[in-house]
Amino acid sequence: MLEAVTHGWYENANLFQSRFEKAFADYLGVPFALSLPSCTSALHLSLLALGVGPGDEVIVPDVTWIASAAPIVYQGATPVFADMDPVSWCLSAETVAPLVTPRTRAIIAVHLYGNMPQMNALRELATSRNIALIEDAAQAIGSRYQDQLAGSIGDMATFSFHGSKTMTTGEGGMWTTRRRDLYERALVIRDHGRVPGGKQFYNAEVGHKMKMSGLQAALGLAQLERIDELVARKRQIFAWYQARAHRLPGMALNADLPGVYNSYWMPTLVWGDELGVDKERLLAHMSSRQIDCRPFFYPLSSLPAFQEEPQAEAARNRNWVSRAVSSCGINLPSGLTLSEDQVETVVAALREFVAIRP
Ligand SMILES: *Cc1c(COP(=O)(O)O)cnc(C)c1O
Repeated sequence: MLEAVTHGWYENANLFQSRFEKAFADYLGVPFALSLPSCTSALHLSLLALGVGPGDEVIVPDVTWIASAAPIVYQGATPVFADMDPVSWCLSAETVAPLVTPRTRAIIAVHLYGNMPQMNALRELATSRNIALIEDAAQAIGSRYQDQLAGSIGDMATFSFHGSKTMTTGEGGMWTTRRRDLYERALVIRDHGRVPGGKQFYNAEVGHKMKMSGLQAALGLAQLERIDELVARKRQIFAWYQARAHRLPGMALNADLPGVYNSYWMPTLVWGDELGVDKERLLAHMSSRQIDCRPFFYPLSSLPAFQEEPQAEAARNRNWVSRAVSSCGINLPSGLTLSEDQVETVVAALREFVAIRP
C-alpha cells in the first residue's frame, strides 16, 4: 500500500492495477481481468462489450440488488425479470428458458447472498440459444459450483469490492472473461475509445472512463492474499447462526446445496407466510435492539424505479416465488468482525420477536 502511495505514479501509474488484475485472473483461473470503479460499471461494460442496445432483451433475476439490472436500462435495452428458484434463491434454467426470445442477448445470473445456481443447465441453455452468460458474482467471491469458482463459468463475470462485500477496496470492481474478443473490445470501451498502442489522444470512438486507482488496487492485492481467510470467516459466522437455527422454528437459513461451496456473504433468514411474521415489523424490532438487519431484496419489478419498464407488470403477475420469499426474509448481521456472542444476541432478539408477536 505504502509502495502504491510513494511509487505508483507517472510511468508506474498502472503498476498496481496490472498486478491486481493479473493476481485476480490467476485466482479465478481465467485469462483476462480488468479493474474498474465498481461492479455496476463491470456489468455495464459486459453489455457494452456485447453491443447490447435498444430492442435487445436481457434476462435478470427479479430479486437482486438494482445494480444487476440498471445497466440494461442505461443501454436502452429491456430487462426481463425472471423468477427465482425457491431453494437457491438464484435463477434456474426452468425460470429462464420460457423467457428467451429471438431478442434475448444475455442472461445475468446473480449468485445471491453467496449461493450459486445450477450453472451447468444455465450454461447449456445460453450456449444452445447463442446467448451470453454473465455471472454477477458481486456477492459470491470464493463460492464454488462443482469446484469451479464463481465467476469462472460464464462468458463474463463481475465482482464488487464495495465496503459491504466480502473483499473490499472501499469502492471498486473487477470484470473478468475467458473470451479474448470481449476483452479486446472492453479495453477500448473502458478507456474513452482509445485503442491500446494507438496514436496518443486519437480516440477511435466515444467510449467510457472506467478505471480503478492504484491505491485501491494495492488494497485489493492485499485483500486477495487473504481471500481464503475472509471467506472462512464468513462461513464461520454462518455456522454460528446455523448451530442456533433449531431455536427459530419455522424459519430457515440459506440453503447449503450439494455441489455448491457457499461463501455466505449474508446469512439470511426466511420463513413461511403461515408463520405470520411481518418483515417490516421484524426489522423494526431488531432495530429497536440496535441490531442492523436488512430486508431481503424487493422484486425489482415491484420498485418505483422500474414501473415504466415494459416487462415489469408481466413479472409482477408471474414471479410468485420472488414475491413470497422476498416478503418473508431478512439478512442478518454478518460483518467480518462479528463475534459468536453477538450472533447469540441476534438470535435471542429474533426469538424475543417471535414470542412477543401478538
Ligand atoms: C453490490 C452489488 C453490485 C454492485 O456493486 P458496486 O461495486 O456497488 O457497483 C452488483 N450486483 C450485486 C448482486 C451486488 O450485490
